[in-house]
Amino acid sequence: MKKEFKAEAKKVMDLMINSIYTNKDIFLRELISNASDAIDKLYYKDLKSDKNVDKSDYYIEIIPNKDQRSLTIKDTGIGMDETELEENLGTIAKSGTEIFKKNVKDENIDNLIGQFGVGFYSAFMVSDKIVVNSKKDDKAHKWISENAENYEIEDSEKEDQGTEITLFLKENTKDENYDIYIDQYKIKELVRRYSNYIRYPIKMEVTKSRKAEDSTDENPKYEEYTEVEVLNSEIPIWKKNKKDLKDEEYINFYKDQGYGFDDPLSWIHLDIEGAVRFKAIIYIPRKAPFDFYSKDFQKGLELYSNGVKIKERHEDLLDDEFAFAKGVVESDDISLNISRETLQQTRELRFISKQINKRIKSHLLDLMNNDREKYETFFKEFGNNIKVAIYESYGAKKDKLEDLLLFYSRNEDKLISLSEYKENMKSTDESILYAVGESLEKIKESPALKSVDKDCDVLLLYEKLDEFLIKMLGKYKDIEFKSISQVEDNEEESEDDKDLIGKMKEILPDEVVDVKISENLSDEVISMIKQKGEVSIEMEKTLKLQEN
Ligand code: ADP
Ligand code: MG
Repeated sequence: MKKEFKAEAKKVMDLMINSIYTNKDIFLRELISNASDAIDKLYYKDLKSDKNVDKSDYYIEIIPNKDQRSLTIKDTGIGMDETELEENLGTIAKSGTEIFKKNVKDENIDNLIGQFGVGFYSAFMVSDKIVVNSKKDDKAHKWISENAENYEIEDSEKEDQGTEITLFLKENTKDENYDIYIDQYKIKELVRRYSNYIRYPIKMEVTKSRKAEDSTDENPKYEEYTEVEVLNSEIPIWKKNKKDLKDEEYINFYKDQGYGFDDPLSWIHLDIEGAVRFKAIIYIPRKAPFDFYSKDFQKGLELYSNGVKIKERHEDLLDDEFAFAKGVVESDDISLNISRETLQQTRELRFISKQINKRIKSHLLDLMNNDREKYETFFKEFGNNIKVAIYESYGAKKDKLEDLLLFYSRNEDKLISLSEYKENMKSTDESILYAVGESLEKIKESPALKSVDKDCDVLLLYEKLDEFLIKMLGKYKDIEFKSISQVEDNEEESEDDKDLIGKMKEILPDEVVDVKISENLSDEVISMIKQKGEVSIEMEKTLKLQEN
């Protein structure tokens, strides 16, 4: 008897199948992860019973069939009985549907499917008929659906426990010479990309070619043969012990994952056993990607749970100031889909995110203190991002990030941190002095700078953002920042001076706000100064530039 899908299931399928964002490839990951879940269930059941458990009995197999244009995903898992086929494949949790509908407009489908537990249905993106043959408790049933319109369930034959899902591929998944989801190389690539770290072997019989026995140098002959290959690596690098890993392996992984083209600058390998357990490898790239400082850049870390990649790029794991970081996180304490435990999941992810950002910061401080050259390389590439983060938080991130900043020191003639400036202060010094200019050379030549006592260090700010930043910081550990060009209000003015000032103001009523006497000029005739609280001349220039 044919049955209609529940109304909400229909809606979701329509949305998914017709979504313009559709990345069809991910259906394979979804089916593999379901297979892996099913094997997990059986495996633990078997472990608990008195059964002799042989790990090699638990596997997933992919079987492409060129002739009937089908792809079968077979598992040795727990299987589904008639009711389960009906309930699991014929319905979708309503709440999930509603959220899905809301999100499908602006998210990409790749992220959505993993989140909302509609994985199985993604197979309809590539197939017009799906047959699920499943055996549980010595009884087998077939669930058949054509075009995601309706389905029927009938008794069937199947030898072993587990599930076999056969997709009859849509006509539009092939062109004249390429049948994409039957191609063994494509399948291998998809498994490696999305399911490499599934903890059970994913097998496939592959066709290879070798020199025939009667092949000679003059007359080379090749023959085809088949071999069952395991396509996934099973043990991911982040699950290995730090001590057993060489730098080279971290670097290779970085490149394999496409995190960057150059070698990474540095990395941390975390194995946290806190309220939420997780493992992670986080990299600091050496170079910013070309779009890093543009709107197009997307931050995030790969997120795995139970060997399944659930998100290619989970944004919330990285604070904006550390958007440059790349890497992967795996926690078996987060469930694979939000529909099961929405709140729980966010709470756990928040914990993970907090830990990761904390570790990135302490790693950077560690580099600053112990490998200054590396830190400077980092800071030159990504320092602006940290400055912007402080700036955009209106100072809320000041405490968290101010110690990561470097500024140019006049006296040391190199980049120093604010805490280093503070350490060098004499007991009589009251503020952290800074001078602003277009370039390091220009500031160094400025008369105002020359007039500052050589004993006092001055931070030379020549990066566009720096002056805004200093204004936003206001203080560093209770020490105020002070511009060397700030007007001194308490300077004594003689009667003569007052006369002169009066005259100058008369002559230049619109050109100047005020006229002051200064002892600071040496060779130069004038020095432009600004009123207290106003932006400097350099900053004004920057603002003007930005307006255009
Ligand atoms: P999710 O995996 O997020 O629960 P899916 O739409 O991917 O959502 O799958 C729906 C349900 O169907 C699963 O929860 C599971 O109970 C069942 N199922 C899917 N594939 C299999 C399988 N290969 N073996 C056993 N059960 C399966
Ligand atoms: Mg699933």
